[in-house]
Amino acid sequence: MRVARNAPTIDAVTAPPLPVLGTDVMVPLVTGDDVPYAALDYAASAPALRSVWEEVCGYVPYYGSVHRGAGYLSQLSTDLYEASRVTVHEFLGCRADDEVVFTRSTTDSLNLLASVLPAGTQVYAFETEHHAALLPWRGAEVTVLPAPASRQQAVETVAEALAGRDPHRPGLVCVTGASNVTGELWPIAEITEVAHAAGVRVVVDAAQLVPHRPVDLAELGADYIAFSGHKMYAPFGAGVLAGRPDWLAAAEPYLAGGGASRLVVHGEQGLSVQWQQGSARHEAGSPNVIGAYSVAAACRALSAAGFETLVAREEALLERTLTALAGIPEVRVLSLLGRTSPRVGVIGLVVDGWNSSHLAAALSAEHGIGVRDGMFCAHPMVRRLLGADPDQPQECAAPEPAGPGERPANAVRMSFGAG
Ligand code: PLP
Repeated sequence: MRVARNAPTIDAVTAPPLPVLGTDVMVPLVTGDDVPYAALDYAASAPALRSVWEEVCGYVPYYGSVHRGAGYLSQLSTDLYEASRVTVHEFLGCRADDEVVFTRSTTDSLNLLASVLPAGTQVYAFETEHHAALLPWRGAEVTVLPAPASRQQAVETVAEALAGRDPHRPGLVCVTGASNVTGELWPIAEITEVAHAAGVRVVVDAAQLVPHRPVDLAELGADYIAFSGHKMYAPFGAGVLAGRPDWLAAAEPYLAGGGASRLVVHGEQGLSVQWQQGSARHEAGSPNVIGAYSVAAACRALSAAGFETLVAREEALLERTLTALAGIPEVRVLSLLGRTSPRVGVIGLVVDGWNSSHLAAALSAEHGIGVRDGMFCAHPMVRRLLGADPDQPQECAAPEPAGPGERPANAVRMSFGAG
């Protein structure tokens, strides 16, 4: 069957390896026309690393029910599922008593955290967050912080917002580790210090951080971290929420059902339930064991490659790309925190006079380069970077520019990693 010109096919995925971006460790893709496919949309989903792919494929024939069977496959799967939790715990440098809960994604992890906030929690989040980090806090009192213009201003903005708050009320700052729009690294250690001084916890949206930088949660001091497997070279739809155990233990389960319940009794008083403690409390239903295993395999692969090597390689790619882009006068690379702000391999840009969607389509159709266009689920951030009037939401539907000097409504994003 013929598919769209650049769409990878199943055959393509299993085709002999082709190097991509000068490295041979990723699972390579070729397009329907045998053109090497440059996957530059890692920020959305990163292709599986070859070692992850092989490890996971080796396990796929053996999956079974987790925590639910005495048979060999169940025991094997239960062991691998719990061993994956330990791998993730170590990979993140968690404190000994931190929980690691397997979820579906970063979005799911942050919604889980939102569901366990103690009554009266005040949440603080920058307007520039990904929607997954901006929108889940529906039951809480949310203060949306204005976009800072520098890393220093980000810390000051948090300090100002927390000054004079009632220290007896629970609080949570939600901040991204690395922006999915600009790739800029946020000063999470400094923000954590300021938040803790005010008695407020911190959750790091690490969806774009974990694939690019080593994380040591204990050293960083942040209370929770959330990320997705599919952005760190791990297929099969699993994510992680890790962090302090007390709020997780005190709350109702995120999902109610089998696995989260220790004992269910139907007596004269109706149904009564004793819920599990620990991570199982929030993992009702049959766990995604292959997903958890693939996250652990990705942790192993990144650790084996070594972040020192990975960061150096990614920074070289970044430097090369930014230098090339700087040589094209029509290109504007987006930056919120300032040109000198450290960043990961995520570059948001606009090209003067170009419609971003047309540009992305042309890169794919003519050059086999897969990028993303749009507002990247961070509408306030992109609108601010593009100079849209924040009080004119209808501008979201504004037509893209047809000529030089017209303000674009959308951007293009190139993203990669050193994996
Ligand atoms: N946070 C950031 C910074 C992201 O880039 C993304 C995805 O693009 C998310 C959260 C949401 O991740 P997921 O769609 O895997 O839940």
